[in-house]
Amino acid sequence: MHYFDNAATTKICQPALDTWVKTNEKYYYNTASIHDGGKEASRLLETARRQLSSMLGVPTYECVFTSGATEGNNLVIKSMLTKKEVSGSTVLVSQFEHPSVIDTLKTFTNYNIKYIRATEQGHIDLDHLKELMSDDVVFVTVMAVNNIIGTIQPIAGIASIVSQYPKVYFHVDATQAIGKVNINYEGVDALSISSHKFYGPKGIGAVLFKQKNILRPLLHGGGHEGGLRSGTVNLPSVAAMVRALRETLESMDNVQQRLEGYKLKINDAFSQHPSIQFQPSDVPHVINMSFIGVKGEVIVNILSEKNVAVSTTSACHSNHAKPNETLLAIGTEQIAIDGSVRISMGMHNTETDVDALIDAINYALREVSEVLQ
Ligand code: PMP
Repeated sequence: MHYFDNAATTKICQPALDTWVKTNEKYYYNTASIHDGGKEASRLLETARRQLSSMLGVPTYECVFTSGATEGNNLVIKSMLTKKEVSGSTVLVSQFEHPSVIDTLKTFTNYNIKYIRATEQGHIDLDHLKELMSDDVVFVTVMAVNNIIGTIQPIAGIASIVSQYPKVYFHVDATQAIGKVNINYEGVDALSISSHKFYGPKGIGAVLFKQKNILRPLLHGGGHEGGLRSGTVNLPSVAAMVRALRETLESMDNVQQRLEGYKLKINDAFSQHPSIQFQPSDVPHVINMSFIGVKGEVIVNILSEKNVAVSTTSACHSNHAKPNETLLAIGTEQIAIDGSVRISMGMHNTETDVDALIDAINYALREVSEVLQ
């Protein structure tokens, strides 16, 4: 299969898979056990934790392992907003967060949730953020890279604005940024990450956070992870995630440069087509394009016949017919939203995949030519 759905999930890389198998074989112990095996496993866990924070450029941050970014986002938001002393305050969020942020926030009806506007280019409007800031704001959450169109958010700019308000806790959902773009997370209080987006195993992630005694466990039990996340620690996946991160970061510049070439090739092939519209994107590996007059699903299905896998707006949305928040927020016309398709590339893609994709899109265009506008 020619796989172009890497923003939904990536194929685990070989070194991470090897680490996962080896850790299962050699360090299958419970990290909480006090026998020698448990101590060895626990040492490996702590080494992995330090390596992760340091590779992400936040060496002084604490780290708690989670099952992924959905749990990470829930952990940070619920910890913060269940604090009685801030109930009723204001929370600021971009209009295009992942449902694990937006839908979690919406469960807190005792807060004044305000949405920071997006520009047509797909970025947070910093002037609007400044207007919304006040002493009543306690929590700001913005993703680092948008999962639908691949725009990079001005994290340093947001950090500098919110730092003038000491009460504010600033959370970043960095799921789509890790291993793809270098972002300076200085001034960010907590980051959520997810291993399966950077060629690690699924079902593992982390929250990296400044120790401010804010986090409260979602899961209660044996008190693993310093009491923040009970349940036997998934050490093989933690070790494999850290290995995947090293692999991804080491090859990042080369991979992104190669993908930039692929992106240009895809753009060149279709940018002059009267029924195709490209959405703004800052990263090499995400292309969001609309087929005007056709439903995105129709294109996805035709490409699938040609063994090419892309997605409609995002896998998280495609099973239920919700309007796409990102495309709405940047002012995309409804007809272009309906016809939008996301092509997301990764380190395993080759020129052959790209040629197959271009051929398949040309085939799809011929198939739907009568309904294109
Ligand atoms: N945030 C963003 C921006 C994402 O793209 C995703 C995955 N689609 C998530 C959070 C959820 O990640 P996970 O699958 O690890 O729960």
